[in-house]
Amino acid sequence: MRLKTRLIHGGIDGDAQTGAVVVPVYQVSTYRQEGIGQHKGYEYSRTGNPTRHALETYIAEVEGGARGFAFGSGMAALSTILALFNKGDHLVVGDDVYGGTYRVITRVFTRLGLDVTYVDTSNLTAVEQAIQTNTRAIILETPTNPLLKVSDIRAVADLAKDKGVLLIVDNTFMTPYWQNPLDLGADIVYHSATKYLGGHSDVVAGLAVTRDEELGEQLHFLQNSIGAVLGPQDSWLLLRGMKTLGIRMEEHEANARKIAAWLAERHDIKQVNYPGLPNHPGHELAKRQARGFGGMISFDVGSGRRAEEVLSRVKYFTLAESLGAVESLISVPARMTHASIPAERRAELGITDGLIRISVGIEDVQDLIEDLEQALA
Ligand SMILES: *Cc1c(COP(=O)(O)O)cnc(C)c1O
Repeated sequence: MRLKTRLIHGGIDGDAQTGAVVVPVYQVSTYRQEGIGQHKGYEYSRTGNPTRHALETYIAEVEGGARGFAFGSGMAALSTILALFNKGDHLVVGDDVYGGTYRVITRVFTRLGLDVTYVDTSNLTAVEQAIQTNTRAIILETPTNPLLKVSDIRAVADLAKDKGVLLIVDNTFMTPYWQNPLDLGADIVYHSATKYLGGHSDVVAGLAVTRDEELGEQLHFLQNSIGAVLGPQDSWLLLRGMKTLGIRMEEHEANARKIAAWLAERHDIKQVNYPGLPNHPGHELAKRQARGFGGMISFDVGSGRRAEEVLSRVKYFTLAESLGAVESLISVPARMTHASIPAERRAELGITDGLIRISVGIEDVQDLIEDLEQALA
């Protein structure tokens, strides 16, 4: 089954009992038992719910892994994954990760005893040098947010295997439509499904998939123990949204390529970050490990004041956090998504005050370009 077909027919195809062509919303918490411990696979919806199970089966298939899990948000997915580790364990984490990822690791999990080193995961030597005897996992995003730096998943996976540590990849930006980290050797892939997978700015959710059954069993134990599960209604919304992932991602990318090329030609913009641009440092690698470049672009307009002006003038780009929806969104990471990162660190990383991030939607690209044109003028 090819990917676009799998997105429509993968997982559990409809409802066997009624013939309904989609899995219904099983808005239920508990299940009748015929005798003590005799049930049809469901006992209590934190442990398992048929609508959530349909989504979990589906994402596992789409990412090419053994077991899938749905959580109440991307951060709930990551937090449950981090509960795999013990006090004293060390993690190597990308230095350009999502702000909330940085926050939960530094302000919650280090307090509980995890040790962490942040490195530029696009630099393999830096990753290798950061590995210690107590390192248990490498966590990376590629491309990164908001600088769109590309890391070599296969090379890091080989290194991880060599050192006996897990590789965990946040695949939110690429989605399984463009990139499958498990196929490249990662052990766990997770998503903020709030973004492209849902795709319509109407659900907050997280998904995770393990490559093997054993790690899947451990994660299921933690999902059930911690209980940060996704509800049936939201599971159903995600199943609905993901059916159109293929056509949406094609449109996001076609629009993003045109906008990035247009921005790159302007002289009043300092830098355009988009892996689809031939001069992007990660362009060749992105071409090798992914089937597309995605719909996220960041560019530097020179100052915080100019960025603020652009944001106040755009009409079709909604000023909002988040990304990956059908409507175009615009933000200034330094003051929004990445505000929880200290200013000195932001400066070190290159997240300048004039850096604008856009999540290119699926509107008519000519309208989007004209909108940016008038806002930049
Ligand atoms: C939004 C986001 C998250 C967090 O997901 P939530 O669903 O908001 O909890 C994690 N990683 C990336 C790359 C994101 O964009």
